[in-house]
Amino acid sequence: MQFTELGLSAELLRAIGEQGYTTPTPVQQQAIPHILAGRDLEALAQTGTGKTAAFVLPILQRLTNPLVTPLQKITHTAPRVLVLVPTRELAAQVLASVRTYGAHTGLRALAVFGGVGINPQIQSMRRGIDILVATPGRLLDHLGQRTVDLSKVQTLVLDEADRMFDMGFIRDIRRIIEKLPKVRQNLMFSATFAAEVRELAHAVLQNPAMVEVARRNAPAELVTHTVIKVDQDQKRDLLLHLFAAHGWHQVLVFCRTKHGSDALARKLEQSGVRTAALHGNKSQNARTRALADFKAGKLAALVATDIAARGLDIDSLPRVVNFELPNVPEDYIHRIGRTGRAGASGEALSLVSSDERIQLRDIERLLKREIESSVLPGFEPRHTNAVPRPSAGRPPAQKPAQARTRSGSGNGSRSGAPRPARSGAGAAKPASHHSGQRHR
Ligand code: AMP
Repeated sequence: MQFTELGLSAELLRAIGEQGYTTPTPVQQQAIPHILAGRDLEALAQTGTGKTAAFVLPILQRLTNPLVTPLQKITHTAPRVLVLVPTRELAAQVLASVRTYGAHTGLRALAVFGGVGINPQIQSMRRGIDILVATPGRLLDHLGQRTVDLSKVQTLVLDEADRMFDMGFIRDIRRIIEKLPKVRQNLMFSATFAAEVRELAHAVLQNPAMVEVARRNAPAELVTHTVIKVDQDQKRDLLLHLFAAHGWHQVLVFCRTKHGSDALARKLEQSGVRTAALHGNKSQNARTRALADFKAGKLAALVATDIAARGLDIDSLPRVVNFELPNVPEDYIHRIGRTGRAGASGEALSLVSSDERIQLRDIERLLKREIESSVLPGFEPRHTNAVPRPSAGRPPAQKPAQARTRSGSGNGSRSGAPRPARSGAGAAKPASHHSGQRHR
């Protein structure tokens, strides 16, 4: 199927062509006709599937179609479309997509999110906007100050609804929805449909069309998953070694905590790997700059927490490294969603210490396969007794880690495991056990 078959306007087709896209992705093929027809939509689609354009394109089309939006309404200064997103980064990305695809439509868009001054947002809002992209907290600030008028909203989009739940935004969302006109189009996008997301969908969506483009929790098929077993206190040295040995660039490295990402970023930077950290304590300017530098290839590594990395749109990222495994196995899927996008292949490499075996087991269960694991000479783990995290409340893992390689089913032939390149570095130093003591 070609974009020209979807009934989109010449202005939109021109903008799509300028991006070099000819074929709509599956979620675009399925969702665009429903949205154009004015239906509510419930879409199960992860980032990387082209979901943003799947709602932005038909929304732009409806806003510029005088049959759908009578001309006199076009003079309204209040937004007619509200897109709610969980993070500032996603807000900025959705806004960028709206501006890209809407380049020839003359429609005005704005993103409002916290961490930056509210006054410029108020000024822009006063000048009039058609599409408002917002994080829930900052939008409530605007509602509280009466600096936004949501009474003209015709279409509501809840993007990454599952993440909004994870981040505790559900009450904010309900308060915002109360301010919207009762009659409107509702579109909900989510990477998973957990019970609470279904409940919200049930409450908000009217007779929705259903679109599902990926298996539940299915990771990008083209990603190669690899595990290197290593002691926690050897991970930094191992990571540095991998950067040096393989000349890595543009690696997104995940840590569990802000503190941990700062410490790792500092260590990498001190060792000559150009690095920035991306997490919620960074100012918006620092986050924007870090992301821009990373995308431009000026940084070899971006060290991020899960929440900060949510929704990052980085094309063709070759490699994601899990410096620590996430506690929630679904976050592994979100993390690796940054690589293997739009048909490109990618590698997800996890550095796994003995106290993370339970998380690894849960991830393998979710993936429904074992992940190939190896040990690098010089970095052999000395800690083999898994100690469960007190908070996890789970029994200890049964098998001790061994210096060995086991093949995962289905991806062994394209192993991304780095070859042992450090010979005779010999003894991994005696490692102190960090399990349960690390600041998370
Ligand atoms: P998203 O799932 O919205 O985060 O989009 C993932 C990436 O796919 C973005 O970088 C888009 O620019 C890109 N993209 C969106 N639609 C298409 C398309 N039809 N063909 C190729 N790439 C696309």
